[in-house]
Amino acid sequence: MNQTPPERTTPRTPTIALTPTGMPIAISRRYNKIWTIILFCAIAMGAMIGVPLYGYLYHYTWLDWSLFGLLYVVSGLGITVGYHRLMAHRSFDCPNWVKGALLIAGAWALQNSAIKWASDHLRHHAHCDDEKDPYNAQLGFWHSHCGWLFTPDQYADPKYATRVANDPVAIWQHQHYPLLVLSGLAGTFLIGFLHNGLMGGIGCFLLAGLGRTFAVLNSTFCINSVCHLWGRQPHGTSDSSRDSWLVSLVTFGEGYHNYHHMYPTDFRNGPNWYHFDPSKWLILGLASLGLATSLRTGSYVEDPLARTN
Ligand SMILES: [Zn+2]
Ligand SMILES: [Zn+2]
Repeated sequence: MNQTPPERTTPRTPTIALTPTGMPIAISRRYNKIWTIILFCAIAMGAMIGVPLYGYLYHYTWLDWSLFGLLYVVSGLGITVGYHRLMAHRSFDCPNWVKGALLIAGAWALQNSAIKWASDHLRHHAHCDDEKDPYNAQLGFWHSHCGWLFTPDQYADPKYATRVANDPVAIWQHQHYPLLVLSGLAGTFLIGFLHNGLMGGIGCFLLAGLGRTFAVLNSTFCINSVCHLWGRQPHGTSDSSRDSWLVSLVTFGEGYHNYHHMYPTDFRNGPNWYHFDPSKWLILGLASLGLATSLRTGSYVEDPLARTN
């Protein structure tokens, strides 16, 4: 017998996002859209022109490459574990200091504050494939990958931010988001500068700052584009979500997107032991240290006949 997919994620309280003191949190799409476009264009230009040009003229050091790899992992997991599985889907609980650390790491990926990110993401789950889906894959690869950043979003709705916007750690991160982004980028320059002077600082900033941010952005974008256009649908066909192990390799397990859409509150995206899902492993690691509790799972059944619609 077929499993019934869980209800789509729809916030229960359709009100404006408020802080604990009752103050509305500014989440103006218009304001954010302008800054998002400016920042994205600057990062893309720096990554596609500045990074290879510097590499050709001066070469990158082991420190630049090491920091590139380290920050790719740290900021990537900040998005997948912090923004996605913890804040958007509440798939586990953790102490505030762990949440704060994850949200700082997520801010370094330059994907907006956790409140904004989770708001858009919950609307994606609630309206997948229709006109209110911010990354609507029915409009093609470009739109679902990053074209949506440049498109006016007439369906932005603060009700999807309500729950996350009442989390004190998320409020703190939202209020300090520009500073956190700057700390991530400036940190790469400082480390390179201390190691090899001005040109060392510029090289480290270009590769581990701009280049790494552009790489993490595009790997996240692949979830909304590739994982809604190409791949298998072993867990359900009620929307366009698909599983892609290839995307999982660069997104710390988020490529098992068909499973995730069917069981969005599951702390795993790859439910089987052999699925490459480092985000799941980090959550299990935190749980073994007592730093993650209440891990939620979907009612996944191994029988393949039970997984096909
Ligand atoms: Zn999706
Ligand atoms: Zn999700």
